[in-house]
Amino acid sequence: MSKIKMTTPLVEMDGDEMTRILWKQIKEILILPYVDLKTEYYDLGLVNRDKTDDKVTVDSALAAKKYGVAVKCATITPNVQRMSEYNLKQMWKSPNGTIRRILDGTVFRAPILCKGIQSYVPSWTQPIVLARHAYGDVYSAVDAVANAGEKVYLVTENETGEVSRTLVHDFSGGAGVVQGMHNTDASIRSFAHSCFRYALDLGYPMIFATKDTISKVYDGRFKQIFAEVYEEYRAQFEAKGIDYLYTLIDDAVARIMRSKGGVLWACKNYDGDVMSDMVATAYGSLGMMTSVLVSPDGKYEFEAAHGTVTRHYYKYLKGEETSTNSVATIFAWTGALKKRGELDGNKELIAFAEKLERATTDTIEAGEMTGDLVPLFSRDGITPKKLNSEDFLQAISKRL
Ligand code: NAP
Ligand code: MG
Repeated sequence: MSKIKMTTPLVEMDGDEMTRILWKQIKEILILPYVDLKTEYYDLGLVNRDKTDDKVTVDSALAAKKYGVAVKCATITPNVQRMSEYNLKQMWKSPNGTIRRILDGTVFRAPILCKGIQSYVPSWTQPIVLARHAYGDVYSAVDAVANAGEKVYLVTENETGEVSRTLVHDFSGGAGVVQGMHNTDASIRSFAHSCFRYALDLGYPMIFATKDTISKVYDGRFKQIFAEVYEEYRAQFEAKGIDYLYTLIDDAVARIMRSKGGVLWACKNYDGDVMSDMVATAYGSLGMMTSVLVSPDGKYEFEAAHGTVTRHYYKYLKGEETSTNSVATIFAWTGALKKRGELDGNKELIAFAEKLERATTDTIEAGEMTGDLVPLFSRDGITPKKLNSEDFLQAISKRL
């Protein structure tokens, strides 16, 4: 066959350790034989980030802004131990954090579902796509101890120096603790745009919740901004036959538990922190969870939700066999190829990405999988077979 052509490049962000090994194999075995792949390549591996004083990360984010679609491999976020392991000049910041700040985006996590791998919540037969507002609230709060006998006030001062004070609590009855937190209209608004935009992309109804009955001003502001932004998307939601539901967080949790999935759940920062771990765990392996960063103006960065799978990489370096799940990384590629195809009107590219996704899930459904999935798999008449990292890709290739 002649290879599928691309008109606009994808921004390709390479990474570290085991996922870097898989990255190359996925391209060679599953993509390059069929697609005349056009990418603008940025090496975000830790060695090159250190060499370029992390400029490569910033450049790759700017390229994502320019071209609109990026695919990223997992990368090491350096800590003290990595400083000596890689002999780093500096403890570079998390690349994901840097990219997110530049694109001003929201991260959506979605599980990849296969027959035979059942969720711990049996009614969740479709993905729950969860978005976490990754700015402000308790994550950038200031807190303090209040001593017995102290009064604590919330004080605001305007540009002309006028001050207003509201009593938080009178600690005359004994000591305690206080906390001051904030959010900004701009950040809440960006978050709302990213969420409505991505719900439309997926064709999923959306749910957003706060506790505005208790936190009337603070959470009330979130509710109000979401309601305003929704008006810009209402017609498109109605045309797609999907709805937007605002409710209280406890009601949202109850609805999600009873649902069959197939919903986008927008969460405030703390709710998202807690609920994303619950939802991810319910769907099984980290190797089956994708992640996409969507900016309020519609730029996309696709990746796997897991890290660089360090323990497997050390085995690989010793020449031992590994069985590392490449599904989330494959779906990062297919997500990016599909998005590129949509933006460029490239039907062949979209069709290819869909076939690759189908070949991947078909492989697992037929009982061929990596080791992490074997204990989770149960399907009548099929005994799951554990394949090594490369053989799994070859099994997908055969179906493709
Ligand atoms: P991890 O790489 O996600 O791996 C944690 C464990 O989860 C693995 O040891 C493995 O368990 C299992 N696992 C994760 N992905 C798997 C896959 N695809 N196939 C099979 N098993 C998988 O997290 P980590 O060990 O905490 O972090 C390693 C490095 O990744 C760190 O340097 C961190 O900074 C980085 N990281 C990057 C990102 C990102 O770029 N988005 C996200 C998270 C972490 P077993 O060992 O039991 O098999
Ligand atoms: Mg968490």
